[in-house]
Amino acid sequence: MTEYSVNREVFESVMVPNYAPQAMVPVRGKGSRLWDQQGNEYIDFAGGIAVNALGHCHPHLTKTLKEQSDKLWHLSNVYTNEPALSLAERMTERTFADKVFFCNSGTEANEAAFKLVRKYAWDHYGPEKNEIIAFNSAFHGRSLFTVSVGGQPKYQEGFAPLPSGIKHLPFNDLNALKSAISEKTCAIVMEPIQGEGGIHPATPEFLEGTRALCDQHNALLVFDEIQTGVGRTGQLYAYMDTRITPDVLTSAKSLGGGFPIGAMLTTNAIASSLGFGTHGSTYGGNPLACAVALEAFDLISNDQLLADVSRKYNLFRKHLEIINSKHHVFSEIRGKGLLVGAELIPEWHGKGKEFLAAAAKEGLMLLVAGPNVLRMTPSLIIPDEDIQEGMEKLDKAISRVLS
Ligand SMILES: *Cc1c(COP(=O)(O)O)cnc(C)c1O
Repeated sequence: MTEYSVNREVFESVMVPNYAPQAMVPVRGKGSRLWDQQGNEYIDFAGGIAVNALGHCHPHLTKTLKEQSDKLWHLSNVYTNEPALSLAERMTERTFADKVFFCNSGTEANEAAFKLVRKYAWDHYGPEKNEIIAFNSAFHGRSLFTVSVGGQPKYQEGFAPLPSGIKHLPFNDLNALKSAISEKTCAIVMEPIQGEGGIHPATPEFLEGTRALCDQHNALLVFDEIQTGVGRTGQLYAYMDTRITPDVLTSAKSLGGGFPIGAMLTTNAIASSLGFGTHGSTYGGNPLACAVALEAFDLISNDQLLADVSRKYNLFRKHLEIINSKHHVFSEIRGKGLLVGAELIPEWHGKGKEFLAAAAKEGLMLLVAGPNVLRMTPSLIIPDEDIQEGMEKLDKAISRVLS
């Protein structure tokens, strides 16, 4: 019995079955803690899949949202607005980019990026230069174009015919890339750390080699930083800790701190290929989303906060190693900043979901990245005590699965 008029059972009767949510229904959140319909408390190591970068209901974000909601919500792009202009100014000041295109999700940011690289090649080199090279296990979104650039065939099954002119290669294999790239290649698309694919970082040699090959073949380098961006790795963007700079970068997830927004960033020269009328979005860059994102971006692009993200990674690692010395379930703990992956030993491959369900029962929200890796993408400002308490719950959840 609950006082709520809807519960988890209603999901099966009225929702398209493309998701399988956990048994509880969260109703309230504060910082890195949430409460469900029954009042049970959870520690949040999931962060809404790397989205709630400042936790739940951060007072500065709720204040900004409330204030903006009394001023102006939506205009369409027939008019521009102050929050969008300020956010674009800030993002171009703090990154390699000169120009920004706003949209509402990661998928839309990538869709814009993939259309842009085709259009830029078409403008400058002609229609033959249209091939996009991407990588196995990559994740770039769920629209037909982005799912086709993504390197996970299971997400493409049944949706053919797919957009063509896309080639997939093994990740971190520079020789494969050398053999595959040609004058037909218009862009190489990659996540600097593959997120959904299992928390696999690109090696420095691969990144630098890819940049050089792009330059040799007049191909653009697109970094999908939708998961790695906005402080997640302890840098504002992950590329900032490499020796290379992409030509196009996509951002979403943490960008709005939980309010839906996406952005595609690029240089002046490349941006000019998306001239007036070539692309658009009704909601993209709306004042509500941009006001909240500006506040989040300003709070996160702070050296002290970013340094603390790297320190918290060490704390996560230390706790996971202690848990592993007791249970021996992880073959590797990896990641950067608060994008943490713990790969299960072969015996537990395919069973990541069991750990997720057990964690929920113990009061911990956790993620998987593929079937074999437990993933943690908490708030960037999760308190150390919440990490400690969450790890105690994880320890119990693992005992539950193993028993
Ligand atoms: C989540 C994600 C996307 C898709 O973003 P949506 O907002 O779900 O459309 C694309 N690329 C990467 C790397 C992601 O992690």
